[in-house]
This record gives sequence, C-alpha cells and structure tokens, in this order.
Amino acid sequence: MTMQLRCRCGAVTGEMNTSRAYTRATCYCKDCRAYGRFLGQPGILDAGGGTDIVAMAPAAVRFTTGSEHIVCMSLSPKGLLRWYASCCRTPLGNTPRNPKVPYAGLVTACFDAAPEVVDTAFGPRDRIVLSNKSATSPVSATPLVFVTGGLRILVGIIGARLRRERATPFFDASGRPLREPEVISRDQRAELEREDTVARS
Ligand SMILES: [Zn+2]
Ligand SMILES: [Zn+2]
Repeated sequence: MTMQLRCRCGAVTGEMNTSRAYTRATCYCKDCRAYGRFLGQPGILDAGGGTDIVAMAPAAVRFTTGSEHIVCMSLSPKGLLRWYASCCRTPLGNTPRNPKVPYAGLVTACFDAAPEVVDTAFGPRDRIVLSNKSATSPVSATPLVFVTGGLRILVGIIGARLRRERATPFFDASGRPLREPEVISRDQRAELEREDTVARS
C-alpha cells in the first residue's frame, strides 16, 4: 500500500510504498536523540528519548511537493545525512552518505496516517529496540527481534543492490546529495548531548 508523507505544516508531502519497508525500530542512540533535539519539535522523541524509524528502500520514497524545503544536517563530517523539512523542522529520514547504499531510515513523525494504520503496515512500535542502554529512561532490550530486524535490513539492502536500484529522492543522478549537509560543530553537538545528563539526573 501507499503511505502518505507530510511535514507538520504541510508544505512537504510525498509517499512511500510500504511493501519496501525493511523493518520498524525505535532507536535510542545518542545520535538520533541529538538530531531530534536539534530539530526541537514535539512528537519526535518518545519518553525514553527514542526515535521511531521505518528502514526501507529509498527507491520506494517520493516527494511530491515542497522539495525546495528539504534540507539535511549531519552530526559530524562523516555522519549520516539527516534529512528534514526546513519549513517546520519535521524529520524526514536518515541516509548513509554513500548514495549506492539503498537504505533510508524514515522517521515516522512525517507519516501522514493514524498510529493504528502505521502499526498495521509496519508492525507495532517498540518491537525492535536499538541502543536501549542509552535511553534516557529504562527500556528493555529485544535481542531476538533485534537480530531478525537487522537481517531484514541486510536482506533488503542486498535485494535492492541486486536489482540495481538507483532511484532515491535524496541524491541527484550523479550521486550528489540534493542539498549540501549542514555539519554542526562539536560544541553544538556537545550542547545537544548535555540535555541527556539533565534528563537523567
Ligand atoms: Zn513543513
Ligand atoms: Zn539512532
């Protein structure tokens, strides 16, 4: 089925083919959390500081309006490209810097669908948990589903590579990212992480 994508203000819209999702996971890593805080909008991070992500084939994602608002940032010079709608700072998704790796981790905050619809399409939230040890409140690990989740991502990536899928809404035909990433400074990064210590104390 087709899932509609929409930033909070509605300027950026798009769609994705749910059958090309690899897996759904909640990531509690410090990087995803720093990104959520960088955006500074409600509804991105859950109570434990986690981000709900659907890993999928970028070829199955398409933006239909507002592409001029799509920008990206990175937490370090070699870090993932973290795409968002600059109009209202809604996260869209994360991609590796290498356009040949067919992986996009879409942040469900940009899905234009009721939570039940998202659950039906990708399975329940929190079934797979990544980096639970760096959650800001206790989150239990999900070792077995974590392994199957990782495998599904791997199988998805290999499948997309075998099919020589080149399409991605985040890079142009020559493999350059749609936008020059804004790489934040170490100080800025440290500032975003400092909020972790505050949250834990
Ligand atoms: Zn917007
Ligand atoms: Zn993460």
